[in-house]
Amino acid sequence: MNELFSQALRTLEKYEPQETINIMEVCGTHTMAISRNGLRQKLGPNINLVSGPGCPVCVTAAYDIDWLIELVKQCHIKVFTFGDMVRVPGTRSSLAEQKSMGKDISICYSPADALDYALANPTKEVLFVAIGFETTAPLTAVIVKQAFKKNVKNFSVLTIHKLVPPALKLLLQDGQVQLDGLLCPGHVSAIIGLKPYAFIPRDYGIPCVVSGFEPSDIMVSVAMILKQQKEGKPQVQNQYKRVVKQEGNPLAVQRMVEVFEKSDAHWRGLGKLPESGLALKDPYRRFDARYKFTVGAIDSKENPACECGDVLKGVKKPPQCKLFGKGCTPQKPIGPCMVSSEGACAAYYKYERMPFQKG
Ligand code: SF4
Repeated sequence: MNELFSQALRTLEKYEPQETINIMEVCGTHTMAISRNGLRQKLGPNINLVSGPGCPVCVTAAYDIDWLIELVKQCHIKVFTFGDMVRVPGTRSSLAEQKSMGKDISICYSPADALDYALANPTKEVLFVAIGFETTAPLTAVIVKQAFKKNVKNFSVLTIHKLVPPALKLLLQDGQVQLDGLLCPGHVSAIIGLKPYAFIPRDYGIPCVVSGFEPSDIMVSVAMILKQQKEGKPQVQNQYKRVVKQEGNPLAVQRMVEVFEKSDAHWRGLGKLPESGLALKDPYRRFDARYKFTVGAIDSKENPACECGDVLKGVKKPPQCKLFGKGCTPQKPIGPCMVSSEGACAAYYKYERMPFQKG
């Protein structure tokens, strides 16, 4: 336990609330760090940490998986995607299942791999599944600009990029769970800066702290939230100053703005949210898979037994799902929150099935 951590524990003790308060850790990387380090158990009894919608794989809607599966069934196309995505269940199938049936689906580590493949194989139609929040969208933008510059004809992007602030607004408006503070994602904030969170204290009167990912970062951030709460001065604070600048990364934002426009997006459990996603705009639209290909009507339904929607909204904790650890395990996941290496269900399954020692 380092000095920062011990100091945070002392502050937490000083500001321990009299009644239960709910603090949402928005980001999946925070969820994993909290579970892995047993931080929940080191907090006072009145501090309830709940997970949020900040794991890109977890919020991928069945609709988008179904759309992609329909496309690979109809066209001879090579799909590149990140690892966890292949196991995310759609309504009736997954990309992993389609791959096992002979569809051309590969895992890549960067959109550059997909573009390189398209350049090397001009007769093959290549699609990259662009997933992630504001953190990964700038890289997709750079690759699309390269494809445009090289006039690549056989390359497209299925953009399921999502934006964090609109989802937070929905959660706060929705009010299904009373949130008393938000731990905001460090990686996303490194791009967008602090300003996009200003509505949280202003309109909803709750503290908001951008946090790093070390155990001490998280504990200090929770202490900052408690202090704000106690003093009745909700604001946006930045605990992760070594990485996140007030203004974010204007160059990365500029790349996004050049290539993308806001669009409606499907979120697992949250439904279709206006202006919460990114679509390619002119003159890059011809690289947008939804613009390039027509697959017809998609009949999508999320598994009613899976409670990922409630987990992503902080309404339920993973063990409250009746399938947790029984019908649904990392080996046989039913929902994306158990698939993703940053999913709340996977985090609880791996680290919090056994009771932790307090202290
Ligand atoms: Fe869905 Fe499985 Fe999590 Fe239940 S335990 S919410 S079925 S991913």
